[in-house]
Amino acid sequence: MEDHRALFLRAAEHAAAYRRSLPGRPVAVPIDQAAVVDAFAGPLPRTPSPPEQVLAELLAAAEPGLVAGAGPRYFGFVVGGALPAATAAEIVATGWDQLAFNTVTSPAAMAAETVAGGWLKELLGIPGSASVGFVTGCQAANTVGLAAARHKVLADVGWDVERRGLPGAPAIRVIAGAERHGTVDRSLRLLGLGTDAVQPVAADPNGAIDLGSLRAVLRSGARGPTIVCLQAGNVNTGACDPLREACDLVHRHGGWVHVDGAFGLWAAASPRTRHLVDGLAAADSWACDGHKWLNLPYDSAFAFCARPDTHAAAMSYTAAYLVGSGGEPVGADLTAESSRRARGFAVWAGLRELGRDGVAALVDRCCALARRFADGLTAAGFEVANDVVLNQVLVGFGDDARTDRVVAAVQADGTCWAGGTTWRGRRLMRISVSNATTTEADVDRSIAAIVRLAA
Ligand SMILES: *Cc1c(COP(=O)(O)O)cnc(C)c1O
Repeated sequence: MEDHRALFLRAAEHAAAYRRSLPGRPVAVPIDQAAVVDAFAGPLPRTPSPPEQVLAELLAAAEPGLVAGAGPRYFGFVVGGALPAATAAEIVATGWDQLAFNTVTSPAAMAAETVAGGWLKELLGIPGSASVGFVTGCQAANTVGLAAARHKVLADVGWDVERRGLPGAPAIRVIAGAERHGTVDRSLRLLGLGTDAVQPVAADPNGAIDLGSLRAVLRSGARGPTIVCLQAGNVNTGACDPLREACDLVHRHGGWVHVDGAFGLWAAASPRTRHLVDGLAAADSWACDGHKWLNLPYDSAFAFCARPDTHAAAMSYTAAYLVGSGGEPVGADLTAESSRRARGFAVWAGLRELGRDGVAALVDRCCALARRFADGLTAAGFEVANDVVLNQVLVGFGDDARTDRVVAAVQADGTCWAGGTTWRGRRLMRISVSNATTTEADVDRSIAAIVRLAA
């Protein structure tokens, strides 16, 4: 057996050097995609190549097309930067090459998921009896949560959706906020419920659902299979739906509550922001990302379900050759994947590295830095268009065309990176502070660059 020590060390050394370079490198500058493809291009090799040479070629080809999204001045897309222990865990997880299917294929991977899953529930205030599927992203977590919902609301009216499918099934009402994330719609498409099934609930001025509107929508239809999608953390404003009152209303109508809390659920991890997601424990399923605010490596997210039996009934399958399946649901029983990467190691390592206090401090720091952005840009004469309740800031620089020009100039400048969005019919800059390494100095430097470019 060959010893790949030098090869693997070179890879790890490169990763470390890249991370060290993050604070100093341009965050993302416009680049010709065709040139990046050219660097990778070439005919499919006919013969094998030495691994050392392949690694060197890969490092050289990728370098110009890398985005410093893990760096401290990247404020796009609610993106974090993978924590050191979590990154190291990911490196060894790749070395271990575990099949995270069940306890036969990897006892260690399942143990990491079990223990980290318990820690996640504790941090987020989700009941300890809930099941947790370790999935690829909040998109997948929404799909799993809504699949569990679909199972239960149809089982309640005597319909076995896993066996019979949806043809001829009783109709399901899906109620969701007008400001829901686009992935909820895609999950509904994949589950055969379709986006036409959605009855929208009006949003309040900061993008959380309006309770009066939810009450009216619930009352407007006949009782029957009902799924309601709530949200913790509006992707533009950070607003969280009033979960306690909404769960209570929906349950009185016999519905299932799914909470899309990709980043906003982390408000629960700090005593300062916990009130924003008060009552979340009453929901039936929850979706939350690890690779956003928790600063875990991609791809990492969690699908929680208050009813483990329902969760497993919607997702698991068995086959004669699958040794170890059919017992307590684990791993693949709780997700839509079969063979899976062992992402639980990085989750365990990240939580172990931060601890309860570290997670709370991360949330608090990002929220404080978001307010620093808002205050700094307001003082410079620009308009902050949202109520900065969490880590999201929306900024207007005049009319839509001018705002778009400022966003483009900031992206081309490379000091920091922020995206553009449309909110309430207006073009705005969207600043999301989610990285564990961002400092006040990073924010001040970014504000100075934005103000300079806007001028
Ligand atoms: C990011 C996000 C998603 C999708 O999460 P992925 O990890 O990209 O799959 C869903 N809902 C909300 C509110 C989000 O912010």
